[in-house]
Amino acid sequence: MINEQKIPCPICQGQIPFDPMSLLQGVGFACPTCAAVVSIAPESIDISKSAMNAYRELKLTNAKK
Ligand SMILES: [Zn+2]
Repeated sequence: MINEQKIPCPICQGQIPFDPMSLLQGVGFACPTCAAVVSIAPESIDISKSAMNAYRELKLTNAKK
């Protein structure tokens, strides 16, 4: 079982299964209902990576204490 999550389709409001790691790498995912392809915006990729790094650093900081 892969770590699959779902996002709402902006076109038909259906559920689109996606892999968060692939999405962060710019991979698009097609809606199974209307075939619309959704992908994360480049600026959002940077934000997501920064957020993930910040979270990782936060965890490491907490682990040292
Ligand atoms: Zn759709």
